[in-house]
Amino acid sequence: MIFDVLTIFPDLLASPLNEGILRRARQSNFIDIHTTNIRDFATDKHSMTDDRPFGGGEGMVMKAEPLAAAVDKAREVNGAGKVILMSPQGRKFSQDIAQEFANENHLILVCGRYEGVDERFRATYVDEEISIGDYILTGGELAAMVIIDSVTRLLPGVLGCSDSADKDTFSRNMLKHPQYTRPRVWNDLEVPAELLSGNHEQIEKIRFLASVQRTLERRPEMIRTETFSKSEKKLLKQHKLYDTILDIQTDLDKVSRGKK
Ligand code: SAM
Repeated sequence: MIFDVLTIFPDLLASPLNEGILRRARQSNFIDIHTTNIRDFATDKHSMTDDRPFGGGEGMVMKAEPLAAAVDKAREVNGAGKVILMSPQGRKFSQDIAQEFANENHLILVCGRYEGVDERFRATYVDEEISIGDYILTGGELAAMVIIDSVTRLLPGVLGCSDSADKDTFSRNMLKHPQYTRPRVWNDLEVPAELLSGNHEQIEKIRFLASVQRTLERRPEMIRTETFSKSEKKLLKQHKLYDTILDIQTDLDKVSRGKK
């Protein structure tokens, strides 16, 4: 998978792309990341990539021509790709969108700065705008990193242990269970005894229940659309969790049928 990142601050991306799983994914050719300095595509003698807004007002706006030329170049070198503009006004990023993007071959991530980009560039070059949350960053580089990081770890073969992405928080509509490692006792706190039993079937059950409990405590709305197998339902009933889940899910049903 190819990521093209268009930015006026390419150095900002160097360190995160050269550590840990991303570094290994690059070395093993699971991903190829190209950073392009938008300034290289400025046409005036001062290499200006921004200018004052028409109509007056605060700040500067990124000019359309260098952005468009940088996208054209990325397409010329690496082929057609989905152009994604980092924007607080875009679709809010999620694990589902990361999975969607993991099915693409080439993403062209455009990082805004200042007051954002000229609307005409957005309207004619951008396939999709993505926000990483309801807050304002100084630029799109961190947002682009978030996308690269979360998408890369979903690519088949990138994570060492093949199933570790499948069991993450958000792989179902639930949070992951709490986890423990050595030592068995730390600050007088013991690891739950069931996890030391060596009985894997029992451990899976305990983890499933802990995952449900944590979701109900912290993010009950997530579980609204989750479905459970017959054996999971039986387990949830045994632990008196099933009625709570049904209440939450029935509530949603009423809302969607306009009864609330
Ligand atoms: N004036 C813009 C507005 O009110 O919508 C905000 C511009 S922001 C200071 C500069 C750039 O940072 C944006 O063009 C965008 O590329 C990036 N950015 C800021 N917040 C973001 C967010 N939550 N998600 C993704 N990108 C963001």
